Amino acid sequence: MTEARTKQSVLPVVEIDVGPCINCSLCRRACPTEAINYFSTGHRTHVVDKELCIGCDICVKLCPVDCIHLDTEYTPNLEKLAFAKDKARARAKRVRVVMTARRERAHRAKEKVHA
Ligand code: SF4
Ligand code: SF4
Repeated sequence: MTEARTKQSVLPVVEIDVGPCINCSLCRRACPTEAINYFSTGHRTHVVDKELCIGCDICVKLCPVDCIHLDTEYTPNLEKLAFAKDKARARAKRVRVVMTARRERAHRAKEKVHA
């Protein structure tokens, strides 16, 4: 592992309190590392894979019933954390490409209207 990797910031991971969870999946869809899984068989529940969580807080802010909390007891594995951060960066890059393409398409359409 490189020195930069060993010095990476480590934020607390999160966990879901399944009691109040309404299984809306907002957290799962927004998670940049796909750390949140939904199990629809048996007891329907959303569960955080803590090895993939980078503590970005997105899911916490989105949850409509505030049932996602920090797990300050969990000690992240730095290699797994680096992998999860790479995953988030790759997703951010894909989103940027899509957004740029959309902006360019909208710009071209506008130019056509004014031509
Ligand atoms: S804190 Fe971020 S990385 Fe962790 S589960 Fe929530 S959205 Fe995913
Ligand atoms: S956003 Fe909250 S309520 Fe919705 S599935 Fe996730 S934990 Fe459950």
